[in-house]
Amino acid sequence: MSFRIKILGNNAAVPAHGRNQTSQLVILHNQYLLLDCGECTQNTLLQYKVNFNKIHHVFISHLHGDHYYGLMGLISTMQLFGRKKALHIYAPSILKEIIDLNLKASDTRLNFEIPFHSLDKKEPGTILDHKHFTVATIPLTHRIVCNGFLIKEKAKPYRINKEKLHPNIQLKHIAHFLKGEDVFDEDGNLIYSKDEYTLPPKKSRSYAYCSDTLFDENITEIITKVDVLYHESTFLNDLEERAKETFHSTASQAATIAKKAGARRLFLGHYSTRYKEIEPFLEEARGIFENSFLSLEGKDILIEE
Ligand SMILES: [Zn+2]
Ligand SMILES: [Zn+2]
Repeated sequence: MSFRIKILGNNAAVPAHGRNQTSQLVILHNQYLLLDCGECTQNTLLQYKVNFNKIHHVFISHLHGDHYYGLMGLISTMQLFGRKKALHIYAPSILKEIIDLNLKASDTRLNFEIPFHSLDKKEPGTILDHKHFTVATIPLTHRIVCNGFLIKEKAKPYRINKEKLHPNIQLKHIAHFLKGEDVFDEDGNLIYSKDEYTLPPKKSRSYAYCSDTLFDENITEIITKVDVLYHESTFLNDLEERAKETFHSTASQAATIAKKAGARRLFLGHYSTRYKEIEPFLEEARGIFENSFLSLEGKDILIEE
């Protein structure tokens, strides 16, 4: 089952140097999750031929314009495309007022529901519990309330070792094997051992999206051993003071978080407009954490099983 992240935008503040503002589409278990929705998001979604109707959940990290100004446009287009299915939005509660006011001003009655999930708390917690995965908040430190999102697959079933199956194995036995259980007869004697008939479950994969934040090592406890970490890197290290003043991070700081969390891979992004070239971000991060990469618009990040 694929688990991939499509980068729809990676620039901070304004569109510049061919880079759009922050947005990512996470696709796992046939679910489409939109993380942030910068101004150009619907254009990039159209460009990469993403079916808007497949997006049922939108997560907005915080209410700086470069992370959500694309949302009203997206909602409007969904309406024009005849959407009927609900669109769940997870965001700081004031966004609901902003959406309602927009709809009121244009005298629009949507043909679909927008169940709104307020994210105003400062502690981590599960906000979406899907059959195959969960989404939880990662409280970040920014000028206004800001959350990152941790997407984690649930534990997977044991796999049946098909080569070992024989006609005496029935469906009720297989149900035990999938749960990693041995099979006993009525007297409590072991008849089939799970070790013989099963293979271990496939690994559960995870992705942490840490949008705008001051360097904060406390988050490493929440994102420990994550497969892929996206961590903002607005500046290079020579502007560490500037990063601190603006509640942002540098490439070195993002790499330090990845190293301390024991992440397998790090992707950088939210590059300041002052940088036309972004290669120096990669060099700086790799000096601390070798498995660092640049997030690039239109590119997919695949998390292998
Ligand atoms: Zn931003
Ligand atoms: Zn911000």
